[in-house]
Amino acid sequence: MEEVRTRFPPSPSGYLHIGGARTAIFNWLFAQKTGGKLILRIEDTDAERSSEESIRGIIESLKWLSITWDEGPYFQSQFINEHVAAAQKLIQLGHAYKCFCTKEELDKKREEARKKKSALQYDGTCRRLTSEEISKKEAAGMPYTVRLKVPRGKGSVLFEDMVYGFIEKKYEDIEDFVIVRSNGRPLYVLSNAVDDIRDRITHVIRGQDGLANTPKQILIYRALGAPIPRFAHMSLTLDPKKAKISKRTHGELVAVHFYKEHGFLPWAFVNYLALLGWSTSDSREIFSKEDLIEAFSLEGISRANAIFDVRKDDPKFFTDPKAISINTHYLRNLPVEEIEPYVRAELEKAGMWDPDFEGMKRDWFLHTVDVIRSRYHVTTDFVTLGRPYFSEDYPVEPKALEKNILKHEGLKAWFPILADRLEALKTFTAEEAEHVIREMAEEFEIKAGILINGIRAAVTGLAKGPGLFDVLIAVGQRRVVERLRKAVTFF
Ligand code: GLU
Repeated sequence: MEEVRTRFPPSPSGYLHIGGARTAIFNWLFAQKTGGKLILRIEDTDAERSSEESIRGIIESLKWLSITWDEGPYFQSQFINEHVAAAQKLIQLGHAYKCFCTKEELDKKREEARKKKSALQYDGTCRRLTSEEISKKEAAGMPYTVRLKVPRGKGSVLFEDMVYGFIEKKYEDIEDFVIVRSNGRPLYVLSNAVDDIRDRITHVIRGQDGLANTPKQILIYRALGAPIPRFAHMSLTLDPKKAKISKRTHGELVAVHFYKEHGFLPWAFVNYLALLGWSTSDSREIFSKEDLIEAFSLEGISRANAIFDVRKDDPKFFTDPKAISINTHYLRNLPVEEIEPYVRAELEKAGMWDPDFEGMKRDWFLHTVDVIRSRYHVTTDFVTLGRPYFSEDYPVEPKALEKNILKHEGLKAWFPILADRLEALKTFTAEEAEHVIREMAEEFEIKAGILINGIRAAVTGLAKGPGLFDVLIAVGQRRVVERLRKAVTFF
């Protein structure tokens, strides 16, 4: 069997977005699954829209997702001469021709066709030129475009898409399309096909919006005598209102880097993206890398459009709740050592990293991460909600202060007593701390809940969190005692 070769060819006119990442992931998965290769090609021929910054951003996002490629990046702009040479070869082979019709002539013809309600296709005037006529026009220096000679008469381009099944396009519905502009620049439809031929691509896995080009590209392959790759077109990614997701309407929320910056674990995000329009028959949702490669098949890609449930204005879920729930799953269940580097990166970014966390305090650090992550969804939570554990400078939530401390006057007297008793403990364990607290509640006839919520607010500034006795161990005896004593000043 021939080696599978897939490609990811982004146009570098912006950041890598959700849809692009999903295409990259499907190509990568298919290559991994079949022991094939993934080629990265930057389609930068549109110089005005392409930028270095965008190329860097796309590559950075792919790396963050751990999408690896085997060849490239190649740059389409370096192969323009090759694209033009292919067009010349097509002319020589009689599969393409020079068209000297001017824009004005074409506009006029189109206008007439519109009036007559006939097809708005090029009428093939220059297809019928004799070689003398062509030489004369060339000698007169008339500019020309190059058009592909589409077969005429009955017949069609027929191919089997690996997602959508058989697709047929009648020759009569394809005009002799332009492959080189009058300024000598090749059209994208040509460049893309010529690059795929050179890169020996066997499977073109791309968005459904590429489908319009496919019959034309098959004609180009055929005319150049090149083997035709298999095609798999993927449904589009839409927002909940069924609009195409785009930078314009959704801003950064559709950019991969946004998720990196907002505390997503890269694999969790790949796992989420893989489920956009792809599923297994058992509707599983969590896949390790090996499992995903094993389970992946192009046949599992849905024909229905995928919905990316962006929630621009929802303060609770800033993005698709499913993306959050998958991230939460990984954040809470991976071996804690595996999320350690991500937590560290967040703390470093926030200036909260202490080198001791990887030195003498490492055991404490890992244990604390393990305790507090049980309530977290994204790694940035370690900086916001995790502040009282990793820093002395943390805010006290007004709600926690009001409800859990100030509302219960008695705490003012109880906190210092409790501080003394906890300080006296020789071994500071969750059991010992719990014992002290419960005993005190009984002795002073305080509802345990009031004491527990009060201590939590005093020690972490928060109204919610993991089990209090675990929290106390994570904060540590010395700091618990200090913070309880300090809490008296809140009254
Ligand atoms: N450069 C094209 C894009 O970014 C890729 C089209 C294709 O995969 O053939 O949309």
